[in-house]
Parts: sequence; structure tokens; C-alpha cells
Amino acid sequence: MTRVAIVGGGIGGLAAALFLGRRGHRVTVFERDGHRPGRDLDGDFFDWHRPGVPQAVQPHGLLAPVRTVLRAEAPDAYRAMLRMGAREHNEFDWFAERPPARPGDEDLVTLRTRRIVLEAALHDAVHREPGVDVRLGEAAEGLTVDRHGDIPQVTGVRSASQAHRADLVLDAGGRRSPVPRWLAEEGCRDAVVENHRVPIAYFCRWYRLRADGPRDPGRIRPGSFSAFAVGGVFPSDNGIFAASLTVSTADPTRAALRDPAVFERVARTFPAIAAWLDLEPEPVSGVLTMGGLHNHWTSLADADGPVATGLVGIGDSLAYTNPTMGQGVAMALLAGQWVAHHAGTASDPASFTAEYRRWAARDLRPWFDAQVAADRADAAQLSDPARVSTEPPTAAGRERAALAACAFDDPLVMRARAKARHLVLTADQAYGTEEVRARLAHWLGEHPDFTPAFDGPARSEWESATGPADHAT
Ligand SMILES: Cc1cc2nc3c(=O)[nH]c(=O)nc-3n(C[C@H](O)[C@H](O)[C@H](O)COP(=O)(O)OP(=O)(O)OC[C@H]3O[C@@H](n4cnc5c(N)ncnc54)[C@H](O)[C@@H]3O)c2cc1C
Repeated sequence: MTRVAIVGGGIGGLAAALFLGRRGHRVTVFERDGHRPGRDLDGDFFDWHRPGVPQAVQPHGLLAPVRTVLRAEAPDAYRAMLRMGAREHNEFDWFAERPPARPGDEDLVTLRTRRIVLEAALHDAVHREPGVDVRLGEAAEGLTVDRHGDIPQVTGVRSASQAHRADLVLDAGGRRSPVPRWLAEEGCRDAVVENHRVPIAYFCRWYRLRADGPRDPGRIRPGSFSAFAVGGVFPSDNGIFAASLTVSTADPTRAALRDPAVFERVARTFPAIAAWLDLEPEPVSGVLTMGGLHNHWTSLADADGPVATGLVGIGDSLAYTNPTMGQGVAMALLAGQWVAHHAGTASDPASFTAEYRRWAARDLRPWFDAQVAADRADAAQLSDPARVSTEPPTAAGRERAALAACAFDDPLVMRARAKARHLVLTADQAYGTEEVRARLAHWLGEHPDFTPAFDGPARSEWESATGPADHAT
């Protein structure tokens, strides 16, 4: 039995606490926020003021590992989510008939819900877990550190009321975690932070479908793309969905999107969103925005080795990525699962920290690197959103676009796409098989004139929609 103290009771902290508690460890979670969600999902989602979790009201797509990990570690919490209105979504439902199942298909199923449903289910489960003590409204204020050995060892967490000893401390303090600062204050070497700026901003608005109307518009792809913006829909729980626009922070028209009327006018120029707005839903929020969406990796080790032992970061405190690939919650749960499976197995705190770092480098880092690479490829367009490239696509660009299009015609390519999207295989591994290459060649044979095209608005249409209403067409 290991005594574990967790800084932060957000998604990563609560999930890790639950998984550890179920494996017999004693866990104490310090969460600054005093509210326990679950009684009133809409109130908790729209009205809970959460400065420490600024992204809480933004739409979240939950990748398949979220479902896979929850079903393995806490099936009761998973079932509670379904009871609260979360819906399973199988990528193969796009096709009139599902293709014959293959091993691994069960790990490609996603959940459609607002994140509050996951948070409510986790809160409920940890509060019922005898070995887990969740201290809501009790902020952690620092660490206790033993500096007698070669490497400083974190031995616990300080709050206003006490110093709490632990064999292992988890930093689950989120994207604004104070833990790297606390380490420095205790005389440890600095954590190594890698930050890749991504100049994009999210704009979203939430809607509720009419109770007597259809639940979705049928076979519509969830995203539409322009050269300078993405428009998407996040179908969620209980007839709620979000329309979202992602634009460059350099876009001079960006500020206008805060106006709900402008937002909706622009959103309708994206086929993916227009199909949902045509269902005449009721808006249930204003336009909610968020920037600062960078790719950020915090390593608690430098070239000379670990800056401390007895401490590991999980969730956003370890890594957060520009959320367009929706990886954050899945990565947080995978880390919580690893910690729960390995707590108490290492011979000493230094070995545990080193093993965790190796695992994160092998199993999480590829997804972080994929996001960084994708953002680099988009950098030129993001720096000058009004620029419209007249250059023909490169062969690689045409192939990437063809794979994306072909996936919606060919279940086998859809399976490869799902494996890459849901952190099962890298894109090279998923698309690089002979089988997929053959299907793509066949598809291109049937579409010899294929050229990548955007289904979102042209720049002139966008500018017209973001302008004053009487200029908009
Ligand atoms: C705009 C946006 C959209 C996103 N979309 C997606 C998506 O589609 N899919 C997806 O999977 N992920 C998405 N994410 C990422 C996802 O929100 C995070 O990865 C996830 O919340 C990480 O969980 P966490 O537990 O690490 O952090 P959080 O959920 O932020 O929790 C951190 C907790 O720590 C607490 N805390 C901090 N300091 C202290 C302290 N000193 N003492 C006590 N408590 C403290 C905070 O109060 C908070 O509750 C998105 C992120 C953003 C910004």
C-alpha cells in the first residue's frame, strides 16, 4: 500500500485517485475548488466559476482511450456517465453497414458528452471510495522536500492546515500547476519546460436541440475546413451540442466573432455547423472564447537527471497540446492508469520516477510530437490568414487529403484513420500498411481528378459574414 497525495482534483487527479484507491492505495486529493458537481449538470457546466480550469466550458471530444481506460479501471463510473446522458459513438456508424469487426475495434469507440459528465461521475465514484480522501476547498500550498540524498525527494504536500506525508506525490494541478515553482522554492533545479506557441483561438457556442425534433442531422461530417479556419460540431449529452470555430489569433476579423449574431452567421458558412443549426436548436450560452492554446511539455528532469524524486506530473501539468486533436483527457487518464498499475512496484522513489519518465516518453510523447508537427505545417497559413495559396498541392499534401476523403468511403481506411486519431497507432503506422496503401490506390483510380478542396467558406464569404449585418450576404 502506497500513500499518495495528489495536487489538483480535476479530471487527471480524480481519475488517478480512483484508479489508485481501487488498487488498495491510500490517496489524499487536495482540490482548491470547493464545489462538488453532479446535482445540476447544466448549472455546474455553465455557471461554475473555475478560474483554475479555464477550458471547462469549452467543448471536449473524448478520444477512445477515455472509454477504454474507464471501462477497465472504473466500469461503474463509465456506466454512470452513460446514465447521465453521455453517448457512445462508433466511427464505423458513418457507414450504412458496419464492416466485419476486427480485434481492436472495441478500442476505437468514443464518448460524446460535455466534460462535466465525466467530472461528475469521477467525483461520485471517488467520494464512495473508502481509501480516497478528497479535500474539496483545500488548496495545496507547497511541497515538503527531503534534501539529504543526492536527489531531492518530495515527501508530501503542504496545505494551510497541515503538512501531509506521502510516499508519492502526483502533480495534477493542470495547465497552470504551481508545482514547478514550488520545486524551485525548495531549492530544486528548474523543471525543463518546452513550449511551442500556437497562434489559434477557440470560439464556441452551446445549443440545445428541440425535445420534439431530430437528435442529429444525419450523415454529416463533424468538421468543415477553410484555409484559415475550422468549423466543427461537438454533439454532446442530453441533446446539447457546441458549434465551434478555430481561427488564427492574427485574423483581423477575430474580435467580431464574440458577437453571437456574427458567430452564428459565420458558423452557418461551414456545412458541418449549418446542418446542425438548421435543426433550429435553442442557444444556451453566449460565445465563449479561449486562447493560449500552446503545446507545452514539462519534464521534471534535466540533462543531469531528475530534479526531484517522489513526484510525477500527470495530465496537463505534464503535457498539454493545442486541443484541436482532443488528446488531453485521454493522455491524463492513460497516465493515471499507469501510475495506479505501478505505484508500490519500484524499489525506490528514484526508480519509480525514472520508469514513469521512460513510459511517458514512449507512450505519450509521440502524440505531443504529432501535434507539434501538425502545427508547424500550418504555421505559414496561421501567420497570415488572409493569404490564399495559389500553389498546387504537393504530392504528399494531395495524398494526405486523399486519405482523409477516402476514409469516408472505405471502412478499412476509416479504421486506419480511427487508430491514428485515437492514439492507437501513429499516422505513419496506421496508414503505412500494404492493405491501406492498396485501398488508397484503388480509390485514387476511381477519383483520378481528385484535388484537395476546402468545404468551408472562401475568404470573401468569411469577411462578408464577419462584417456588419447589412453587408453580410
Ligand atoms: C480550449 C480547450 C479545449 C480542449 N478540448 C479538449 C478535447 O476536445 N478533448 C480532450 O481530451 N481534451 C481537451 N482539452 C484538454 C483538457 O481540458 C485537459 O487535458 C484536461 O482538463 C486535463 O486535466 P487535468 O486534471 O490535468 O487538469 P484540470 O482538469 O485543469 O484540473 C486541474 C485541477 O487542479 C486544481 N488545482 C490547481 N492548483 C491547485 C492547488 N494549488 N491546490 C489544489 N488544487 C489545485 C484546479 O482547481 C483544477 O481543478 C482542451 C483544452 C482546452 C484549453
